[in-house]
Amino acid sequence: MDDVPDPFIDLHAHSSVSDGTERPAELVRAAAAAGLDAVALTDHDTTAGWDDAASAARELPLTLVPGLELSTRVGWRSVHVLGYLVDPLDPDLLAETEGIRDGRRSRARRMVDRIGEDHPITWDDVIAQASPGATIGRPHIADALVARGLEPDRSAAFRGILHPASGYYEPHDAPSPLRGVELIRRAGGVPVIAHPAASSRGIVIDEPMLRDLVDAGLGGLEVDHRENLSHGKRTLLDWATRYGLFVTGSSDYHGTGKPNRLGEHRTSQAAFDTIRSQGTGSSPVVGPGSRLS
Ligand code: AMP
Ligand code: FE
Ligand code: FE
Ligand code: ZN
Repeated sequence: MDDVPDPFIDLHAHSSVSDGTERPAELVRAAAAAGLDAVALTDHDTTAGWDDAASAARELPLTLVPGLELSTRVGWRSVHVLGYLVDPLDPDLLAETEGIRDGRRSRARRMVDRIGEDHPITWDDVIAQASPGATIGRPHIADALVARGLEPDRSAAFRGILHPASGYYEPHDAPSPLRGVELIRRAGGVPVIAHPAASSRGIVIDEPMLRDLVDAGLGGLEVDHRENLSHGKRTLLDWATRYGLFVTGSSDYHGTGKPNRLGEHRTSQAAFDTIRSQGTGSSPVVGPGSRLS
């Protein structure tokens, strides 16, 4: 009998470098306090938080998996691709993420201009809600709406003024999922489709597209995520078996920005080991006494 518990691994979390509410180092400390053996920092379209997160991980008994969550899209459908252990200096990845962040910013500005025609909110209100250099998204507009008393909280803002049906919404510029998967692999990283079954309209990609992504080096599917719908999860597990993909489970923690709790879903050690062995662009930061290396 082996009574050593499985390691506690959560591979999707956001800091204030994108739309989470804690600095990367604070996030890593919160992960250790929650008892995690490994946490991945996966800010939207940036690796700028890695050094701060690593400085905390080097003093704690946990392993930090550096990553990002790349925004891609198919028409109006947003497809998020997690990339673990990429080379943060890869020129193509740097150029693409910079372009996405610029596109996010101008899109947010256009949305705020339109919202501002009907409600008292300005671009300065939005900037005041974001850390300097942070990847701007609807969550920052939501926080500005809350600060102005126009919405009670972030989630209400997403159901209200920021909902795609509100008339203020527009998508931001983003590459295709295929390009996203290729970029991450070429940067030595391991690509995983984030919350693929989180949409009421079904899984964000169809099977022919999945085949193309697998051919381009897709590694896994994030199956255990609070927003994935159960019917879609069954399809994802079936695809994982048939196409040889690993599956992950994660919280998608955003600090106080979302109800998601660190470690609410977990990833197996086998999937962690696969990511560890395939990722060549950077290395996990193994803190003193971590159970995972
Ligand atoms: P965007 O990419 O700018 O369209 O905004 C979508 C992002 O907002 C997602 O990455 C989520 O992290 C975040 N988000 C979506 N729904 C909510 C919600 N109800 N509360 C807080 N954050 C949310
Ligand atoms: Fe987010
Ligand atoms: Fe996401
Ligand atoms: Zn996320």
